[in-house]
Amino acid sequence: MWKKKRNWVLKKADYRCERCGADNKQLYVNHKTYERVGYEEQENLIAVCKSCHGKLHGENPKLDIVSLFRLHED
Ligand SMILES: [Zn+2]
Repeated sequence: MWKKKRNWVLKKADYRCERCGADNKQLYVNHKTYERVGYEEQENLIAVCKSCHGKLHGENPKLDIVSLFRLHED
């Protein structure tokens, strides 16, 4: 189930950071909002690089990491 979501997010992001466009080998999947944990909609998931992940946390300390994954891990 999660893997399907993860792949969906990756595809949506075109395998790049959705914030800066970095073609990073490591991307984090974050919730854009923190209200629907457990019920997260795909639209609320965002793939970001490590750098942007840190920035997002600076802007919103409540933002939590959902999953760290490596591209091409399969
Ligand atoms: Zn980025």
